[in-house]
Amino acid sequence: FLSLSLQAKMSRPVQAQRLEGIDKNIWVEFVKLAATYSTVNLGQGFPDFPPPDFLKEAFMRALSGENHMLHQYTRAFGHPPLVKILAQFFGKLLGRDLDPTTNVMVTVGAYQALFCCFQAFVDEGDEVIIIEPCFDCYEPMVKMAGGTPVFVPLRPKAPKDGKLMSSADWQLDPAELASKFSKRTKAIVLNSPNNPLGKVFSRGELELMADLCVKHDVLCISDEVYEWLVYDGKEHVRIASLQGMWDRTVIIGSAGKTFSATGWKVGWTVGPDRLLQHLRTVHQNSVYHCATVAQEAVAQGFQRELELYGKPESYFVQLPKELQQKRDWLVRSLDAVGMKPIVPEGTYFLVADISQFKSDVPDVPNSDEPYDSRFAKWMVKNKGLAAIPLSAFYCGSHKNNYDHFIRFCFAKEEATLKAANDILQKWKREKTSP
Ligand code: PMP
Repeated sequence: FLSLSLQAKMSRPVQAQRLEGIDKNIWVEFVKLAATYSTVNLGQGFPDFPPPDFLKEAFMRALSGENHMLHQYTRAFGHPPLVKILAQFFGKLLGRDLDPTTNVMVTVGAYQALFCCFQAFVDEGDEVIIIEPCFDCYEPMVKMAGGTPVFVPLRPKAPKDGKLMSSADWQLDPAELASKFSKRTKAIVLNSPNNPLGKVFSRGELELMADLCVKHDVLCISDEVYEWLVYDGKEHVRIASLQGMWDRTVIIGSAGKTFSATGWKVGWTVGPDRLLQHLRTVHQNSVYHCATVAQEAVAQGFQRELELYGKPESYFVQLPKELQQKRDWLVRSLDAVGMKPIVPEGTYFLVADISQFKSDVPDVPNSDEPYDSRFAKWMVKNKGLAAIPLSAFYCGSHKNNYDHFIRFCFAKEEATLKAANDILQKWKREKTSP
């Protein structure tokens, strides 16, 4: 037995080189910690409330209705009713005629849409600009495709006197952004509204990015999974609608976020055929398609939303209203205990400053692990409250620059947010009383 295991150890590495350095993933660790210790989980980004009834009913009809062919394979690049309605819906939003067969492709969640983009566009040696803090899978996906991620941070500006910081206070430095573009740049990843900050990029910021993309002939991978979750009357501007951008942009969306059904894993890409044809090649040769019944139900959900577009009964009108209230509750809870929130303009998420809680979780000098990561682990183990450290959304060398924030997900039932508030209040009392 011993010699067998030694032999196995001494043989050549089993893993492909492209996996080097990307084998550690914080989600594995933090999801497990939350499952083991948390009484209140505001960590991973998913709602703990149900999807709307009309969507669940559509799924049940698809599952148990007369059309048993919905249990079989469908068209690889998207179930025909879904690509048709997505083309109609996004055609309306973008003000252009979209062909369901060439301008839309359905994917296994937005995750697989991202994977298809990097595999389809990025060659060995290509650079991809990523704005930090960012959804953490962009970096390993670029690397797996053989590309080099080039990071540009959003830089926080102090808010006006006495005001809470807003995600809008985190901005790109135009000169710094421009300096990252070169002949090697193949694409930029834009995520607006942004996970984890909740920043909704303004038209001016997007125009700056668009001008650079056009000037340097760079593609834009536009992750818009939180497109409906925008608060305070802010506008979600689609970069593909700006001058010169349609032909170089892939829009990525997710039924998970759109209809509060993250487990269904239905996502999509919308863009010009010259880009989508290459996504189809990757998709065809990897996953083929995602579950037919789920696609059928999402198609019916969009059909309803097209009919109710802009009306008060529309889910896309109601959901952001509800989430804005939840955001406001969590902002108040955190502010009351001194865990300063950065008020998000969109998304499920809110980032808060933990500096005032440092005395409870002493720093360990020269630790390899960023402070916020140790803090989040301590918090879930000792207080039962799960959150995600902000440093998880930065690349290796930048992690320690942003190590005193944690991200909470507020797409939760009122009872969950109240339970979080109780934990924070109790903690605050314990801190102040001797
Ligand atoms: N992009 C961003 C910015 C996300 O936050 C997420 C989910 N957390 C995804 C993509 C993946 O979406 P899906 O669940 O549809 O794969």
